[in-house]
Amino acid sequence: MLMCRGLAEIASDYIDGELSGRQNLTVKMHLMMCKDCRTFIGNLRASNNLLRAHSSGRADEEFLRRIDERVSETLKSQPTGPNDSNDTPQS
Ligand SMILES: [Zn+2]
Repeated sequence: MLMCRGLAEIASDYIDGELSGRQNLTVKMHLMMCKDCRTFIGNLRASNNLLRAHSSGRADEEFLRRIDERVSETLKSQPTGPNDSNDTPQS
């Protein structure tokens, strides 16, 4: 018998459709009986959809790449960047 706590642990997998058929069924059975978990899953699914709508799959990578570009541009435009290992006098 699946408990609410157990359901919360696999809820995101359930939404992503990554559970096995048996687990999936167990979750569905629990949701039929448990209003709290229905609400929980509903909220999770809603925020998941929101995230997906904004990121359209793999905008995470794109987003990170843009930040990376922005950072290196900023570093280039600064006369004295934090990377001064090239002209640090040794000894
Ligand atoms: Zn529950």
